Amino acid sequence: MIQSLTDSLESHEDSAWAKVPNTSWIKAAAYHLRKRSAPTRLKWVKGHNGVVGNEEADKLVADGVNKPTPDDIDLAVPPIFDLSGLRLSMLTQASAYAFISSIPPSPPSNRANINLDWIRATLVLKIIQHALLALRHINRREESDPHIWLKCRHPDIRHPIQTFLYKALHGAFRIGNFWNGIPQYTQRAHCASCNKSLESMDHILIDCENMAISTIWSLAQQTWPTAFGPWPVIHLGLILGCGSIALPNQDDKSKTRTGPSRLLRILISESAHLIWVLRCECSIQGINHSVDGIKTRWHNKITQCLNLDHHMATRYNRKPVTKKLVQDTWQTVLIERLPSLEEDWITNPEVLVGITLTRSPI
Ligand SMILES: [Zn+2]
Repeated sequence: MIQSLTDSLESHEDSAWAKVPNTSWIKAAAYHLRKRSAPTRLKWVKGHNGVVGNEEADKLVADGVNKPTPDDIDLAVPPIFDLSGLRLSMLTQASAYAFISSIPPSPPSNRANINLDWIRATLVLKIIQHALLALRHINRREESDPHIWLKCRHPDIRHPIQTFLYKALHGAFRIGNFWNGIPQYTQRAHCASCNKSLESMDHILIDCENMAISTIWSLAQQTWPTAFGPWPVIHLGLILGCGSIALPNQDDKSKTRTGPSRLLRILISESAHLIWVLRCECSIQGINHSVDGIKTRWHNKITQCLNLDHHMATRYNRKPVTKKLVQDTWQTVLIERLPSLEEDWITNPEVLVGITLTRSPI
């Protein structure tokens, strides 16, 4: 205490009292000492050693602790004695960081903010519930909430799509209801494409009747090999939880079909993200996409994934397990288009030139 009121006082004030415990008490004591016109001398004495002043102080402490109601002690410091902020000449990166960290977050400024937080929290819970339900159906087992959060950063999913899924899981995109509380911007709450519905992630990725959604999801379905089983029903829970997809083995339900699970993860994540990108281009830049343009962009994205996998598997000194994973992911897709595909397609890049990954619609 003496140290805080003497040697350390100036440095505490220079650093805006960052990380100093009992600040309000020390500041109040320093104020009362400074207010005195006479000099004050402080002397350290050994505690519980028969020194009269110390013993009397201990008694007062004991009396204070036993009081049924605590005294109302005035710790107020008049502004003229209260130094605030940091001394610029003493500022270091560490002290600035400590100061900023010590500032408590400001309370929500109005009712609208509280409502928005509440709506967002409810939305996140709802999205997670949908994802859990979708995964229970697909994986034939229960997944946990943390699993969904962690797996939205699955390495099979490209980085920009990982960020998209993470933000969508948080309900962090400025869509739909976000704009309803903002005067002059309420028209943004509605879908720019069909102009009738309140926008939501469900509407943007699945429900809207624009060409991008129907074209892209049918391309994804046409790429999914029939040998891998039926194409799943696409809904928001499955899209946002696609990092956790683990299709069970038919014979042994505890084992996962690695290749098909990986292909489904890639098809769903790439398709959903492309729909989102096209939606942003349409509503922000006013671009109208043709069906052929949409098809080309989707094909380019999926072919990029195939080519990247191909490079990954054939790089010098690559482990056989990587080659097997890439083969398990794409071989069935390729064989359905090229029945004469050689076993060594992975080391022979020419076979993939100009290949169309989609089947004709059934
Ligand atoms: Zn719409």
